[in-house]
Amino acid sequence: MSDNKMTDNKMSFKGRVVIITGAGGGLGRIYALEFAKRGAKVVVNDLGGSLGGEGQNSRAADVVVSEISEKFKAEAVANYDSVTENAQGIVQAALNNFGRVDIIINNAGILKDSSFVKMNSSAFASVVDVHLNGAYRLTRAAWPHMKEQGFGRIINTCSPAGLYGNFGQANYSAAKMGLVGLSETLAKEGYKYNIRVNCIVPLARSRMTEKVVPPPILKQLAPEKIAPLVMYLTHESTEVTNSIFELAAGFYSQIRWERSSGQIFNPDPESFTAEAILNKWSSICDYKDKPFNNTQHPTQLSDYNALIAKARRLPPNEQ
Ligand code: NAD
Repeated sequence: MSDNKMTDNKMSFKGRVVIITGAGGGLGRIYALEFAKRGAKVVVNDLGGSLGGEGQNSRAADVVVSEISEKFKAEAVANYDSVTENAQGIVQAALNNFGRVDIIINNAGILKDSSFVKMNSSAFASVVDVHLNGAYRLTRAAWPHMKEQGFGRIINTCSPAGLYGNFGQANYSAAKMGLVGLSETLAKEGYKYNIRVNCIVPLARSRMTEKVVPPPILKQLAPEKIAPLVMYLTHESTEVTNSIFELAAGFYSQIRWERSSGQIFNPDPESFTAEAILNKWSSICDYKDKPFNNTQHPTQLSDYNALIAKARRLPPNEQ
């Protein structure tokens, strides 16, 4: 439908329809403006609640839609549905107003931080519900349309707290790491339909970080520095999928899994003991490359086969 091959190295989104959840402020607003500037039609979704997820207000999304129309004379529509309540309605807003959905940015989020011992089950569940289940619901509602048209680009917003953990954020970390697993499977299932799925792990100035990041660092964390990668990953010319990117303050990088060189134990069941593990612990956790026992960067389940094959290839005297 669209002919957005790059011209003069410019990435146009003309004819593309983008849904951005939580686009009434912070990072989502910046993405919405950038997509609109590049010709996309944008569904600006935002429930308009507090950082903790309380309340709702149509103003946040409305202001961004007005901004888009004033600055770029571009088409955008506001949607105030919660990703937890009516994800189908958000996709329907794209279909009703623009006839299709090409790109989803799962960005809506809340925080309910507290140490694990003080975190009640409602604080845990509601954060997982917005970040993880919300992204699932919206993606599930849009997926058949993307599959049918043979095009889709999906960004899931993860967090350093998800990858590495962070004190007081057990709920948020679980939700964000859940998004990594969701993305990795959807990247595989969507591949043959030209649906590409990636995770971003941003750090940026917003109401989420303004009270926890020291001001001198905050100054460097303009959300505008996150948007370029989102544009790149969602453009029709981009084939990148199944990947995680960490970015902040103008630094862009990729994260991947690494399996240690590891240790193969004698197949005799007698040798599978806790003491054998103790004796070889440093080898099990060895990340140094060795000529015949390299670390690996697995990207799919079948990469496990290489491990099993390696164990089988060992000459009997080394087993
Ligand atoms: P933000 O609070 O400005 O933006 C989140 C938006 O989501 C808000 O506008 C909020 O109203 C909306 N929202 C919340 N619940 C919703 C729901 N149920 N349905 C629809 N909209 C809802 O914060 P931000 O920093 O711009 O965060 C954007 C995303 O980036 C979040 O997923 C956040 O977890 C993630 N993230 C941010 C940082 C950072 O440094 N700012 C770091 C890592 C991850």
